[in-house]
Amino acid sequence: MHIGCHLSTTDGFLAMGQTALSIGADTFQFFTRNPRGSRARQIDPDDAQALMDFMDKHHFARIIAHAPYTLNPCSSDDRTRQFALDTMKDDLARMEFTPGQLYNFHPGSHTGQGIEKGIEEITLLLNSIITEDQSTTVLLETMAGKGTEVGSRFEEIRAIIDGVRMHDKIGVCMDTCHIFDAGYDIRGNWDKVLSEFDRIIGIGKLKAIHLNDSMNTLGSHKDRHQRIGEGGIGLEALQRIAHCPALSGLPFCLETPNDLEGYRREIELLSAK
Ligand code: FE
Ligand code: FE
Ligand code: ZN
Repeated sequence: MHIGCHLSTTDGFLAMGQTALSIGADTFQFFTRNPRGSRARQIDPDDAQALMDFMDKHHFARIIAHAPYTLNPCSSDDRTRQFALDTMKDDLARMEFTPGQLYNFHPGSHTGQGIEKGIEEITLLLNSIITEDQSTTVLLETMAGKGTEVGSRFEEIRAIIDGVRMHDKIGVCMDTCHIFDAGYDIRGNWDKVLSEFDRIIGIGKLKAIHLNDSMNTLGSHKDRHQRIGEGGIGLEALQRIAHCPALSGLPFCLETPNDLEGYRREIELLSAK
């Protein structure tokens, strides 16, 4: 299995790769820009290339760039949607400095327009930013269904994918805390949830996993991440997912409330077996 965690970008690309390796990780995630602010820092092409070489050398899985979670691609407000579009388009252009990686985003909240309208807006946005020649795979993250969030049902994710023209550029990132909070019982019956995912979306569309425990209970629609083994999902279920043969080869990324040492321990805990 390939496992890593969310890292801060402060010292650039290569530094993130080195930090990941130092805690036993062989993938990682980072924010493309400050989640609150809109400005992205300048990319140093040499630093980006150095990370690609480093990842090659150490057999890393693909890394995940995470769009700012404050974007809302399906807001009822035109300017909010346009801002999401502009930001994501710019992110995708920047992703070409690290070719062939994953770009994950939250489908957003429909803010009262209804799920169907939300799905339509997200599809529209994706069709205007995804290009034929990009090397990045864009991932829709499965959500907890907090408020008016779109993407907490596999059917909604499927509907968005169906509307995207560049079919091979779009995939899914499954967040275990989110789907548990959304009501998928991955603690009690992982196999059933996985086969439901396969039936509705198709396992081939699954490109990454966010491996988190949940502070809340099944179906709570809350989205509060917990450390591995300390929440409602529990260590045993998360270990089963981490070692699920159908997911081998995918990058697993921890987004648990931890410092680096905590991440190192969780990586060790989950890699064992
Ligand atoms: Fe996320
Ligand atoms: Fe996540
Ligand atoms: Zn979350």
